Amino acid sequence: MNERIQDAVFPRTRSSALLTHAGGLHARPSIRLTQVAKSFRSRVWIAASADGPWVDAKSIARVMTLKTPAHTQLHFQAEGGDALEATQALARLVHNDFAKARDAQAPGHPPCLRLRGVAASPGLAHGPLVLLDDGLRHEGAGGRATGEVERLNAAIGAASAELATLTRRAGETDAEPIIAFQIAMLEDPVVTDPAYQAIAAGAPAGRAWRKAMATLLAEYGRAGDAYFRARESDLRDMGERVSRHLAGEGLVPIAPGSIILAIDLPPSRFLELAWDAAGIALLNGSVQSHVALLARSRGLPMLVNVEAADLRGHVDAWVDAEDGELVVSPDAERLAHFDERRRRRGAAGPAAPSRAPLDADVRVMLNVSDLRELDGLDAGLCDGIGLARTELLLRSHDALGSEEVQLQAYRRLVEWAAGKPVRIRTFDAGGDKPLDGYTVPGESNPFLGLRGVRLSLLHPHLLLTQLRAIARAAALGPAQVLVPMVTSPDEMRRVRALLEAALQSLAAEGQAHGRPALGMMVEVPVAALAIDDFEVDFLSIGSNDLIQYLTAASRDAAALSTLQDPLQPAVLATIRKVVQSALARGLPVDLCGEMAGDERCLPALLELGLRGLSVSAGALPRVRSALAALQAAPPGGPLAAPPGGSSA
Ligand code: PEP
Ligand code: MG
Repeated sequence: MNERIQDAVFPRTRSSALLTHAGGLHARPSIRLTQVAKSFRSRVWIAASADGPWVDAKSIARVMTLKTPAHTQLHFQAEGGDALEATQALARLVHNDFAKARDAQAPGHPPCLRLRGVAASPGLAHGPLVLLDDGLRHEGAGGRATGEVERLNAAIGAASAELATLTRRAGETDAEPIIAFQIAMLEDPVVTDPAYQAIAAGAPAGRAWRKAMATLLAEYGRAGDAYFRARESDLRDMGERVSRHLAGEGLVPIAPGSIILAIDLPPSRFLELAWDAAGIALLNGSVQSHVALLARSRGLPMLVNVEAADLRGHVDAWVDAEDGELVVSPDAERLAHFDERRRRRGAAGPAAPSRAPLDADVRVMLNVSDLRELDGLDAGLCDGIGLARTELLLRSHDALGSEEVQLQAYRRLVEWAAGKPVRIRTFDAGGDKPLDGYTVPGESNPFLGLRGVRLSLLHPHLLLTQLRAIARAAALGPAQVLVPMVTSPDEMRRVRALLEAALQSLAAEGQAHGRPALGMMVEVPVAALAIDDFEVDFLSIGSNDLIQYLTAASRDAAALSTLQDPLQPAVLATIRKVVQSALARGLPVDLCGEMAGDERCLPALLELGLRGLSVSAGALPRVRSALAALQAAPPGGPLAAPPGGSSA
């Protein structure tokens, strides 16, 4: 029998219990009561009199409107397959004065859930669970969220995440129940649904949210009782928090050590919010996505493609990115098992970076997406910075227009590299890495759209600003310009003309500057196949994009990951062509996609004659050790002299 029909044929059950809780049914006991009610499938109502009015016992907003003082007889009704258990559990909860019921076989205690996922960054992590995306709780009509629904989802999600962070900071103080009340209200469809309905009727998200809040606040403001009027100010604070997010005002980072669950996470949001998280789980996402490569570079355990489930009321989780599982609300036995595994893993220790000097012919450079990656990292372990992803380093439209802000970031790179080359890639923003006010919203196929140099050339004044900042950094050390998503030789000619203009203007102003080498990313198949036609100073192969364009398989599509095999013959043949062209022309060439950090690929890449790799900080120790082992191999191995000379 279908669950709904089954529920409908069950008779209603009733129960009642005397409320003895000092202070009556205020915020904390109401939250507990709604949590217990929500753990049952049946519909459940509560009333402060046998004749009603009855309100939804799963809605904190509705339960609070009962304004029930102590020594009131509370009544419960339920309808559905587990109605009897629900009414009994609620009566027991009230009878046991809430806290005691929790200690006894608490019916509302969230059950342990095991959700399958795909490991995108290895490791184990445990911590408080933060649902970053309210989209985990609400979807627009037909499951396809509209732009305004998405905005409201994101704002509510960000506000909840902030509140979860504040809860942990508040500990056992008086602030804790207030914050818990605000979180419960944000999870309550009675509070949020009117705003979603207003959006469906055509209102923008901001107006829809303000109107829904005004109605709710009026209800609380009318209360004669001082306690409920005090809740009005808590609600106002909660509403304003969401409004601030809708207005795009500052996000508070999530507490260090949290486990973040989101539908998906654009790289900029990861860098703003989740840098200090303990682990990440995404319902969508893929191993090749930008955020996955950021997590790997940070050494943060991450799962993608995680099974969906209702996670309201769950407060902690384990990311098991070894076995590909998100374990939510693990019980004591599982926790002990995980702790033991983590202890053993910790005892084994992370791979120590090989300090053995590498063959002079092999360059290992660093990919940098955030300046924090350089903190504590020994520059002696690499041969410079092979890829600085400026669209992630800077991340705001304001920085795009500011030469000074950019120069500060580039100076840090150049000073860290201490005389070694630093390849600063011009902005590679696009639908895949959106930047407010710069990228084009709603492109139907962003990977094939206005990305990288295509977008930069549409905004030449911004590109000029960036080139000036890089040229000024070149006065401090060997900063170089790397241009992404190049398709035609003409694009490189136009960038070179802008670079000349930047150098002339700096000279005319008497600004200290250097002449940066100008190179291109080779990641578009036609550019790879016609590489001889490009006038550049160096080449850097972007295997992440090159593979996705050669295979017509989006790097964000987890289901297509088997098509994206980096070792398939056509990919290797394309790389070979680029390397041979570089060797023949005496141009430095390296590869800066994820393939360079994958030990399985190193022998093949070296055999193709490639002698330059650029990898994330997370991969650097492994790659150095793998190269040292290959170097120690008998002569004739992959490190034998490349055909046609060296690519140094
Ligand atoms: C690539 O495409 O291989 C690359 C290094 O650039 P990104 O991952 O930033 O697109
Ligand atoms: Mg790329």
